[in-house]
Amino acid sequence: MKKSIAELGSLAGRKVLIRVDFNVPLRDGQVQDDYRIKSSIPTIEAVIGQGGRAILMSHLGRPKGQPSPELSLKSVAEHLGGLIEAPVRFVDDIAGTKARAAVDALQDGEVLVLENLRFDPGEESNAPELVSALAALGDAYISDAFGTCHRAHASVCGLAAALPAAAGALVEAEIKALSPLLDKPKRPFVLLLGGAKLSTKIPLLRNLISKVDAVLVGGGMAYTLLAAQGRKIGASRFDAELLETAQEILEVARGSARGQGPLFGLPVDHVVARGLEDLEGYDIVSGDIPEGLMGLDIGPATLAQFIEALSKAGTVFWNGPVGASEFPPFGAATEYVATYLAHRSAGTATVVGGGDSAAAVRALGLAERLAHVSTGGGAAMEFLEGRSLPGLDALPDAEV
Ligand code: ADP
Ligand code: MG
Repeated sequence: MKKSIAELGSLAGRKVLIRVDFNVPLRDGQVQDDYRIKSSIPTIEAVIGQGGRAILMSHLGRPKGQPSPELSLKSVAEHLGGLIEAPVRFVDDIAGTKARAAVDALQDGEVLVLENLRFDPGEESNAPELVSALAALGDAYISDAFGTCHRAHASVCGLAAALPAAAGALVEAEIKALSPLLDKPKRPFVLLLGGAKLSTKIPLLRNLISKVDAVLVGGGMAYTLLAAQGRKIGASRFDAELLETAQEILEVARGSARGQGPLFGLPVDHVVARGLEDLEGYDIVSGDIPEGLMGLDIGPATLAQFIEALSKAGTVFWNGPVGASEFPPFGAATEYVATYLAHRSAGTATVVGGGDSAAAVRALGLAERLAHVSTGGGAAMEFLEGRSLPGLDALPDAEV
């Protein structure tokens, strides 16, 4: 357990720096998906509700240490202003004279959003100068940017050591939802994987394979595994350099056929087409995929097998859409799986982690019906890969 907001004592009249994750998609200056902003509200309200002064820090996109106007947090601050009652101010400065003046003008119960931290190269390099300039703005620090906890950046790590620090409500909720997956999950524990590339999922597979009862693999990553089995995959996604690793994974799968490892499910049929936008050849095929066609979603027989395995699960961790879900004809199985997991009334705890899978679940309006949809794609993956996250290590433990 990390030290919580309550353990910081009364925050009335105190200036509390909160690292939030406002790294949201913007188009023409408008927030496209405000899930991360909404997820930070419990912590913001915990501070201003007691008459504290909330100073919010975040990064947005990859400005590479230089100001870039289209990545300003101004429109995100305006969006937040529409979500909470309290006044939300914005200052186009990170920790300089303007930011100090804005903090001095802040009243109890008000919110100030600082400019995009990554406009300063010191954020990503965890520069002591930036840490002390930020620390000078506040009396206490709360880390609530779970999605950035796998980065040793100034506002994530440096600041935690410079001020009395605590984990925010979102960070607490993420740890609470993800930890049981590594330690005593309710069984059977099913790992459902999809997404584009096998390469990005290997560390997760390696860490979880001994802990799960079944692994179901769909999405683009399945094709490298099928190719390693000697299947014809047509023009499907394929990581040639991973064939050997794929063989290793299949060794585990072969063990499972003899009852020594988890059940291992690969697609037995496929929704195919010439390409994502070239629907010529759209069809459902079993087994081998004809030349020139790509497997772009799992087929109905595979879907039925996956649902059968999911129907028995006590815990499901789902990362990666099982098809190219952002292209309408290929999102069907992902939608079906999400709908099933969200509505099934038996006691399955489904945790979704991964940027695209979480976005797919939210786009279907199903996030609230699942046990947990992580706000941190990369951070959730690293947590479940068994790696320690610098941003969590930096936080003090609860006093027991
Ligand atoms: P997450 O962000 O949830 O971890 P990934 O980033 O690994 O997921 O993968 C998501 C991407 O995988 C999406 O862009 C989706 O279109 C793509 N994808 C899924 N299945 C396929 C497939 N069969 N062929 C090509 N791309 C696919
Ligand atoms: Mg992704």
